[in-house]
Amino acid sequence: MKSISELKENIIVEEKKELKYLKFSPLEKFGFIRHGFILGEKDGTGINSSDIPELISIASGIPEEKFRVVIPKQVHQVQVLSFKEKMQEKIIQMEGDALLTDQDNLFLIIQVADCLPVFLADPVTEIVGLAHIGWRGALSGIAEEVIQKSKINFKSKPADLNLVLGPSIGKCCYKISGSLAVLFDEKYVDKRGTKNYLDLGHFVKDEFLKAGVKEENIFVSGECTFCGDQRYQSYRKDKEKAGRMIAFIGKVMGKPG
Ligand SMILES: [Zn+2]
Repeated sequence: MKSISELKENIIVEEKKELKYLKFSPLEKFGFIRHGFILGEKDGTGINSSDIPELISIASGIPEEKFRVVIPKQVHQVQVLSFKEKMQEKIIQMEGDALLTDQDNLFLIIQVADCLPVFLADPVTEIVGLAHIGWRGALSGIAEEVIQKSKINFKSKPADLNLVLGPSIGKCCYKISGSLAVLFDEKYVDKRGTKNYLDLGHFVKDEFLKAGVKEENIFVSGECTFCGDQRYQSYRKDKEKAGRMIAFIGKVMGKPG
């Protein structure tokens, strides 16, 4: 079990009240963004959806009444939702696995426990995004779809996009069946005896590179939710008892505290 204090310099660990969350330097450098990755509770449970606005307020330092949140119902497909207008509802809930917006004070949320959260920011068009990627979405082309939607709906160029691949189950622990392993090129599957382990992060990174994102603009956290920090939630490890962790990103207007 690694402690997060041993982490590399691009990951910033913060604790406020009972909350523990990570921030990533490659996104933190953009002043127009607030983002974070909120870990589970100390007692090993996850986070209730109804608490999400409050938690984001604590982690982002922005009062709850100043923002709206999009909490998608994640369906492991390739549905990318684009938010280009000011939203009226306080909490927006729609089916989708990836989110993009150019709107100020609209926080995008993705909930994960082993799946890969991908943060996106374009400092030129000033859009932000988040995707939730498991093996199904990865094989179905969600990475390509996110890049296409950022081009079509927001005129972003792939070469301007900055991505962070957050904590997810690593190839150290992601055991998959033989019938699933054959769907991936063998360079993404680590064979140990008769067992197969998937390097989902590597596969997804390559998909983004193929879609035109620059290698130097992709940061891979390399954190494993199965064997890493105790407050990571892992569906593989804890099954139904596993909670969820919250990835969030939003644009902020003016100069928030
Ligand atoms: Zn691991």
